[in-house]
Amino acid sequence: MSYVSEQLEKLAAKNPNQPEFLQTATEVLTSLEPVFDANPQYEKMALIERITEPERQIMFRVPWVDDNGKVQVNRGFRIQFNSALGPYKGGLRFAPNVNISIVKFLGFEQIFKNALTGLPIGGGKGGADFDPNGKSDMEIMRFCQSFMTELYRHIGPNTDVPAGDLGVGGREIGYMMGQYKRIRDSYDGTLTGKGVPNGGLAGRDEATGYGIVFYAREMLNHFGESLEGKKVVISGFGNVAWGTAKKLEQLGAKAITISGPDGYILDEEGVTGEKIDYLLELRSSGKNICAPYAEKYPNAKFFPGEKPWGVKADLYIPCATQNEIHTADAEKMVANGCKFLCEGANMPTTNEAIEYLQNNGVVVGPSKAANAGGVACSCIEMAQNAEHLIFSEDEVFEKLENIMVNIFKQSMDACKKYNLGDNLIAGANIAGFERVANAMMFQGIC
Ligand code: GLU
Repeated sequence: MSYVSEQLEKLAAKNPNQPEFLQTATEVLTSLEPVFDANPQYEKMALIERITEPERQIMFRVPWVDDNGKVQVNRGFRIQFNSALGPYKGGLRFAPNVNISIVKFLGFEQIFKNALTGLPIGGGKGGADFDPNGKSDMEIMRFCQSFMTELYRHIGPNTDVPAGDLGVGGREIGYMMGQYKRIRDSYDGTLTGKGVPNGGLAGRDEATGYGIVFYAREMLNHFGESLEGKKVVISGFGNVAWGTAKKLEQLGAKAITISGPDGYILDEEGVTGEKIDYLLELRSSGKNICAPYAEKYPNAKFFPGEKPWGVKADLYIPCATQNEIHTADAEKMVANGCKFLCEGANMPTTNEAIEYLQNNGVVVGPSKAANAGGVACSCIEMAQNAEHLIFSEDEVFEKLENIMVNIFKQSMDACKKYNLGDNLIAGANIAGFERVANAMMFQGIC
C-alpha cells in the first residue's frame, strides 16, 4: 500500500464524521502520489501525518443577547492549520452549517491556496454556526463583539490574521476589529477585509472575483482560446459572483446566470452594467435573490429551486459554496459541450464530478488556484498595515494580476515536472505542497 493510501485510511479512522475534510484530503493527497514517490524523505519526516493534523484547533462558546432580550449561544471555531510559511491566514465563515468538518476542509485548502500566492502566509480558517440572515444590525454587532471577546487571545498580526468568508464582509470585520482594538489596545492590522477607512485595502472587495477571471483568461489562452465574446454560467450572488461578473464584462465576456437560495436566473442579455451593482443591493436584502431580479429585469428568466448547470455556455464558474456540482450536473455540462470549468467557490465540485469532467475532456481550474486572489490581496493589506502606508487601487490590481498569472504558470510547471499533461488540479496541489513541504523540512520536527 502506498504512503498516501495508508495515511488516507488512518485519517478516515481518526476523523469520522468529517466528510468535507476527508473529501479535500483525499483529493489533495491522491494527486501528490508522484511527489512522495520522488521524495522518500517526506515519508521519513511524516509530512502527511503532520500536514493533515492542525497545529491547533480552537472551539469556543459565543453567547449574545438578541433584540428580544433572549440569550443565544453559538459555537465558534478557529483552526490554525499550518504556519510553515507565515502567520495563519484565512477567513471566518458565519453560516448555520458551519462545523468542525467544514472549518477543517476550508483550513486545509487554505494551506495550499496561500502557498500558491507565493506570499508569506500560513493556512487557517474559522467561523461560527451563526446564521446572519434576518438578524438586525445590532444583533450582528453584539454577535461579532462576543465572538472577538474570545478570539482576540488567539490572534495577532504575526500569529493569525482572520478575514471574511461567507456571511462575513466589511461590516462584520469592522465590528470585530473595533472589539479587538478595545481589548488589545492595538491598531495592528490583525484582521483583513477591513473597510478602506479602517486601513482596508482598495480593491479587496473585487480581488477574489477579478483574480478568478485573470486565472480563467490564462487557462483559456493556454488552450488557444480567449475570453472575448464568451458566455459564462456563474452561480452565487455574493462578493465572488459580483467581482467575477464585473471583470468578465471588462474583458469582453459576459455572465448569463446568477443563483441564490431561491433558484437561478438566466439573463441571455448578460448580467452586465448596472445589473452587476444591483447584485450588491440583492446581497444585503436577504434570502430571495432571483425573484426580485426577474421582476426588475423582465427579459431574464427565473427558474425557482434549480441550479444553472444545465445551461449551455463556453465556461462555467461556480461562485456559491462547497459541493454544488455533483456528477448529474457534470453530465449535463458535458452533454452541452462544456470545455472549461473554473472553480470560484471553495471546493464547489465533488471528487466524483471532477473525475467525470476530466475523463470527458473538460479542463478544470481548481479553486485553490483560481480564487487565491482574495487572500493574496489580504496579504497585501497586511503589508499595507505593517508599513503604515496606503496602496492605490491600480497598484493592487497590478500586483493581483501578476500573482494570478504566476499561479497558473507554477501549476503548469508542476504538471510538466511530473508528466501530468494539463491536469491543473494536480499541478496546483503539487506546486502549493512543494512550497510548504520545503519550508517544513527546514523547520525540523514541529
Ligand atoms: N475567505 C477567503 C478565502 O477563501 C479569503 C481569506 C483571506 O482573505 O484571508 O480565501
